[in-house]
Amino acid sequence: MTSQVSTRRRFLKGLSCLALAGCAAFSDTVADEKQHTRSVRLPRIIMANEKPLVFNVVLKKDGGYQGKRDQIFGLAQRYFAEHVGVNVRFDFYDSVGAIPESAQEARKVIELFADEVRAKHPMGVEMKHEIDRSRKERADLLAKIDDSETKKELIEFEQENRALESDVVDKTMGYQDLRARINLCGFCKIGGRDAYVVSGSLAHQVGGLALSDEDLVKQRAKDVCHEIGHSFGLLDTHKDEKIREYVRPGMPNLMSYQGNNVGDGFGFTLVPSQIDLIRKKVGEEVK
Ligand SMILES: [Zn+2]
Repeated sequence: MTSQVSTRRRFLKGLSCLALAGCAAFSDTVADEKQHTRSVRLPRIIMANEKPLVFNVVLKKDGGYQGKRDQIFGLAQRYFAEHVGVNVRFDFYDSVGAIPESAQEARKVIELFADEVRAKHPMGVEMKHEIDRSRKERADLLAKIDDSETKKELIEFEQENRALESDVVDKTMGYQDLRARINLCGFCKIGGRDAYVVSGSLAHQVGGLALSDEDLVKQRAKDVCHEIGHSFGLLDTHKDEKIREYVRPGMPNLMSYQGNNVGDGFGFTLVPSQIDLIRKKVGEEVK
């Protein structure tokens, strides 16, 4: 009994040292000597930034977020504070144009309807950029060729190539539109300053019918935090070999596509390496 108690003390002491070293503190369960579990609240986390990192949030008047705005963003703010140890603040505006000059520099979270995604989705923009780049490369190459026969042949080939590229762009753009209507809940370029959440997708409509009010708030908060996670440089877990999909059974990782359902507490979690990355990024940006 005594040795078990001291083992437990050593365990807790070790954990609080970790927290003091800058790791995120968390509320977790540990097995006690009677094989029961009990909740252990660890010392308060040391925040990576004192001054809050501000996000300008622009929501639709009749979108999926407005009605539960304060619960959703309140949960997101608490998650970052209590689990990650970064201080964020959400300021709300009716439109991007309503953001005052003095606040223009801040990061943004913008809600779009599924129909609006096509024009904004960075995948489309990135693909167009990639195509423009390769077209320029080919044009530069063509300019260096002197032989007229070869040149003629390559110009014909280039025309075919362009037609094919346009076709691919058209089809993919259409696919993105469809994807947004079905299941795209948000998007953000890795390291980008603006994060988008999408409402009006089938996933959101079904969620609205199938989930309890509490889980719906968690689900939306997860979408917000997921996209903000991308803006801090986190990858989706299926694109990140170092991170397992699930940390604990029934508790989806914030950056995982799996687990549309949410777990207990905040409903989602991050592994220490993901937390470290966010803390580093925010710490560099705001003191
Ligand atoms: Zn993602």
